[in-house]
Parts: sequence; C-alpha cells; structure tokens
Amino acid sequence: MPPLLSEFDVIVLGAGAAGMMCAFEAGRRGRRVLLLDHGERVGRKILISGGGRCNFTNLHTRAENFLSANPHFAKSALARFTPSDMIVLVEKHGIRYHEKTLGQLFCDDSAQRIVTLLERECGEAGVEIRCGVKVNTVRRESTLTDATKFIVETSAGDFTCESVVVATGGLSIPKMGATGFGYELAQQSGHSLVEPRAALVPLVFAPEDRERWCDLSGVSFEVVAHAAGSGKAKSRPQTAPEFREKLLITHRGVSGPAVLQVSSYWKPGEQVRFDLAPDREVLAPLLEKNARREAASLVSALRTVLPSRMAERWVAAQPSPDWTNTGIARMEAELHAWTLTPAGTEGFAKAEVTVGGIDTAELDARTMESRRVPGLYFIGEVVDVTGWLGGYNFQWAWASAVSAGGAV
Ligand SMILES: Cc1cc2nc3c(=O)[nH]c(=O)nc-3n(C[C@H](O)[C@H](O)[C@H](O)COP(=O)(O)OP(=O)(O)OC[C@H]3O[C@@H](n4cnc5c(N)ncnc54)[C@H](O)[C@@H]3O)c2cc1C
Repeated sequence: MPPLLSEFDVIVLGAGAAGMMCAFEAGRRGRRVLLLDHGERVGRKILISGGGRCNFTNLHTRAENFLSANPHFAKSALARFTPSDMIVLVEKHGIRYHEKTLGQLFCDDSAQRIVTLLERECGEAGVEIRCGVKVNTVRRESTLTDATKFIVETSAGDFTCESVVVATGGLSIPKMGATGFGYELAQQSGHSLVEPRAALVPLVFAPEDRERWCDLSGVSFEVVAHAAGSGKAKSRPQTAPEFREKLLITHRGVSGPAVLQVSSYWKPGEQVRFDLAPDREVLAPLLEKNARREAASLVSALRTVLPSRMAERWVAAQPSPDWTNTGIARMEAELHAWTLTPAGTEGFAKAEVTVGGIDTAELDARTMESRRVPGLYFIGEVVDVTGWLGGYNFQWAWASAVSAGGAV
C-alpha cells in the first residue's frame, strides 16, 4: 500500500539555514522529507544576514572559533563539511562572492541567492516544504511492528515519521520567528540546556558611563577587546580570546565587531577591557626631554591612535593627571586597559545569535542524534555551539545539518 500523504521518513522542524541544508541532504539519499516552518517564508534570517549579503562561511573555520561547554564537539561535523565544500555548492549555483576581511565570504549581490540555492536543492531532492505551519507537539509511538514512530502534531494536521530533526534556531530576533520551541522539546525529552544568553550583541553602559561617553555616539576606533571576568586574574574566562577589531560608541553603550565578539563571553556583573592603542606606546613623546607635560600634549599624543573627540574625552575623564614619569606610565597603562562593567546587553531583540542551548553531552557528535531519544536530532543554533562573528555560525549550521542529513 502506498504511504499516506502524512507519512514521511524525516520531518525537519525549522526552515532556516540548518533545516534546509539537512532536508536536501536527506532528500538526496532518497528519504521522503517534510520541512516545516511557522513563518510565511523560508530562510528569513539568511535574508537579513551579513547586512543583506550573507557572510555564508569563513575560510579559517576551526573548532577554536566556537563557544561550547564541550569545545571538541563541533570538530567532527566541521571536518565533514568544510568551507571549501560550501564554496563548491555556492559556485555550482553561479553565486558570485568575495572575501571581505579575515576569511569572511560574502555574496557579491544579495543573501537571497543563498536562500534560492537552498530552495533549489530542496526542490531537486524532492523535499516537501510547508510554511505557515505551527508545530504543537512531537511525541513517540510504538507501532505493531515494534518500530517507533514520531507523531508531529501541527496546525496543519498530524504527520508521522521515523526521524525528527529539530532546527528551530535560538532566541535572537523574535520578530524573525525565533522561539524557544527546540529547547522545550529537548527538555521534554530529558535533555539539559546550557543557559541560553544573547550573544554577538551590543553592550549597554551603566548610567554614569553612559553620561560620560555616549554623547560620542558614532565614534569608532580599533581596539583589542577581551572579556575580563570579575577583574581578578583568576576569574577571567580561560577560553575568552582577545579580538582586535573596531569598537563603536552607541547612544546606550558600545558595539562594533570587537564588542560583539566579547559579548559572547561576557556575563552579567563582569568586566570588559579594551586596549585603546594596540601595539603602541602612545605617551612616549611626553617622556622626552623638554616635552610639555600638559593636557594639550596628551590630547595630541592620543590623536595618533584615537579620533579627536575620543582623545579629548579620555583626557577630560582623567581626574587629575600626574605629570611625573610614574604618572605618565600609569596613564599609558590605563590606555591599554580601558575597563568597564556593562550594565547589560541589548538583549535577544538585537543579538545576532544565542550562546548556550542544548547540551552537547547528550548528542552524538558524528550525527547530531540524541543519545536519549533515538531518531531525534538537533542541529544548528539550537545546539550549544556558537560561532564568533564572521561566517562561523552559518558554517556550523551547514556542517551540523550535513552530519544529520547523512544519518536520518
Ligand atoms: C541580523 C543577523 C545577521 C546575521 N549574520 C550572519 C552572517 O552574516 N554570518 C553568519 O554566519 N551568521 C549570521 N547570523 C547568525 C545566523 O543567522 C544564525 O546562526 C543561523 O541562521 C542559524 O541557523 P538555524 O537554521 O540554526 O536557525 P534559524 O536560521 O534561526 O532558523 C530557525 C527556523 O525555525 C523556525 N522556527 C522557530 N520556531 C519554530 C516552531 N515552533 N515551529 C516551526 N518553525 C519554527 C524559524 O521560523 C526559523 O525559520 C546573523 C544573525 C542575525 C540575527
């Protein structure tokens, strides 16, 4: 008897980057795949990514570019589907791209090209896509033949399948359809969560810092940034790397790539530290014989590394400059360690990603299958693997999707 229309081998929940990639990988293997999304169209986050040009991978992707409670978990998937594999796919579809900086590959024209690529591949692989379908619950049922089936209850009726892939993403940008559905389903299935937090997100200053700096909103300069923990040497997160990129002062705090990167490592109450003059000894001219040791000389020395307004403000923020050699050395040290305790972040509404998610300890790193519920898979951002800014999050979405797509 031919299968009922509502019967599939695989149902993928969430038609974002990971869900679409996984659906066509499974479809290519001859699996009957249904891809469901509650939004009106597929790939909505892809369309707004990379300023509309989708930074679809990073040439230098390594496991070190990801945050996870288990830093080794991502290695197997990242090795199975590499940035070169993504480039082959992009070139197959005639999409032109360029390297912007630091290995980041962007489409030349529009992120829509990546969505079209995914839609075409799904079409060729026979994937059935249904948008505007809300998934209510997923449950398991044993059949007469002792096989276990999943029943996916949705606003468009019930569907059955052998494998369910959860690709419902994280909590960032709720207005783009983000929900906590994946986390809830995981917890119902006995999985633990690593606390989800907003990441790649602007930081917000406490009122006194806002008053001191935020009228400089729009001023930007290069820094080396790092999440400094509570400020005590031992409390600094061991894994928090330094990022040498631009910082941007906003009307509520700081943003820019350097800040977005450290935000993923920052926790409430902790400090962030910025070297405002990386690799430079800026105040050396003030130590020279006959140098004028006064505010104007300090400002002009700082202008060699900072925009004028920031240089002036930094000097104005010095309570009473000490012009001795020791005092100048102290100011130099402070310049390389501008330390702030943000009041918070701009939250999920402005975050590019969610750090944390489904604990990888209960997933098979080669297939993304749950160790608790056979046949249940988790891929993409819903999993506790979060990339740095720069194309790493899509590379994780593609790679984890290919791992699961080859196994379902
Ligand atoms: C503004 C912005 C710019 C970004 N730019 C980049 C970039 O240039 N490069 C990069 O690598 N990363 C970028 N990212 C991050 C990247 O977009 C995500 O990491 C990636 O999209 C995650 O893919 P995903 O498939 O796991 O989840 P998503 O793309 O979020 O897809 C999840 C899908 O699940 C659907 N869904 C959710 N809940 C349900 C439910 N209950 N029922 C049915 N469907 C549901 C959603 O509608 C959505 O379509 C950016 C993110 C943002 C917000």
